[in-house]
Amino acid sequence: MVDYVNIFMARVQAKNPGETEFHQAVQEVVESLSLVLDRHTEYRSAKIMERMVEPERIVTFRVPWMDDQGEIQINRGFRIEMNSAIGPYKGGLRFHPSVNLGILKFLAFEQVFKNSLTTLPMGGGKGGSDFDPKGKSNNEVMRFCQSFMTELFRHIGPDTDVPAGDIGVGGREIGYLFGQFKRLRNEFTGVLTGKGLNWGGSLIRPEATGYGCVYFASEMLATRNQTLEGKTCLVSGSGNVSQYTIEKILQLGGKVVTVSDSDGYIYDEEGIDSKKLEFIMDLKNVKRGRIKTYAEKHKHAVYTQVDRAKDFNPLWDHKADCAFPSATQNEISAKDAQNLLKNGVYVVAEGANMPTHYEGVRLFLDAKILFAPGKAANAGGVAVSGLEMAQNSMRLPWTKQEVDNRLSLIMKSIHSTCVECAERFGTPGNYVNGANIGGFLKVADAMMDQGLV
Ligand code: NAP
Repeated sequence: MVDYVNIFMARVQAKNPGETEFHQAVQEVVESLSLVLDRHTEYRSAKIMERMVEPERIVTFRVPWMDDQGEIQINRGFRIEMNSAIGPYKGGLRFHPSVNLGILKFLAFEQVFKNSLTTLPMGGGKGGSDFDPKGKSNNEVMRFCQSFMTELFRHIGPDTDVPAGDIGVGGREIGYLFGQFKRLRNEFTGVLTGKGLNWGGSLIRPEATGYGCVYFASEMLATRNQTLEGKTCLVSGSGNVSQYTIEKILQLGGKVVTVSDSDGYIYDEEGIDSKKLEFIMDLKNVKRGRIKTYAEKHKHAVYTQVDRAKDFNPLWDHKADCAFPSATQNEISAKDAQNLLKNGVYVVAEGANMPTHYEGVRLFLDAKILFAPGKAANAGGVAVSGLEMAQNSMRLPWTKQEVDNRLSLIMKSIHSTCVECAERFGTPGNYVNGANIGGFLKVADAMMDQGLV
């Protein structure tokens, strides 16, 4: 099987040159799936994996817009429609200068497995642009979103492809995108998720990824008869996922001592309480400021600026029990993973997508800590997006309690799928194998049923 993995990866690398994040995501999955392909040769003969790494469709397009100075700006837009075997394509839009085809393909690939794990009928997709919303006025963001949707609208729809938010795409951007879609199509449909509450959004959608990630961590701790009560937690990022991860950790009695953005991180030994979290939410969601300001307001907290010359991130070098990487891909290097283990961290739940380098993942698995890969741990966001789609179809909103209960049940179900699949294929406690196998089987069987398409 090592041969199969090597040959498979050599082909993927040759066919998708330079797409390092995509290679990394596929490598991790194909290693887990070698356990399945060994026993079920029918998937191999049907070339299911070979088909799954080839997107069903990729759309790239020009996004011209005018800035506040009257200057013309050009960005690039993308939508990767990866796999629709079990439902319409579903996955977020990312607006960040680092966005390129390889990053979006890795995200779309992961999304296929994640969406399958949620138990809901959703295929996988991802999209976005190299546009940077940071420092732009609301009017500039609106003009960009309108131009982006003027092309994207012809490729999406409630039964075809339903985008949502991701890095750089929050409630404001979804609003502008939805407005333009509605105007172009003259239809009020559930074509985007993460909508405002007054116009088709679901309660708990903003909270869902962070809350879900903490529910998943709690499920893992429960396997060792423990809870989050009194646990010290390291959280990275200060955006949507981080904010609600912190909120739920606090509700469950944990203590959060770090938070960050791309310029630096805060270490607050006393803990970030709900009042300080309120400050962070206002700083990030309303003022759109930098995390450094936290230390100016809370004098005991220490701010450390990012030092790109260092081969590790000091955020991950503090004594703690749990870590919730919630910023971006590859934010935990092998050295960071070593530091986390050295500092006593034994729960890592990935709120972000693929935040841990390949070598870091191996270290966590070898150390047999409770390690939840993003496609399981952060699936709560897309799960509630799926619930938003259901509410839109019924034209009936559910209560906060109803959505939160469903989210918690879905996270429990994902956890038990991971545990069960890991055990069934001979690697008990390995949530990476559990998530990859659990996500794969449902999609693979659907592809087998639907013939060669
Ligand atoms: P967000 O609201 O835009 O926040 C992103 C946070 O990460 C910000 O604090 C940002 O800092 C930081 N960050 C982004 N790029 C960075 C980089 N290259 N280096 C260091 N810090 C960086 O985005 P989000 O929705 O919370 O998403 C965070 C992660 O969760 C992503 O991996 C995303 O794919 C994943 N995720 C999100 C959802 C969801 O429902 N939103 C669901 C599943 C997974 P700056 O402000 O300085 O850029």
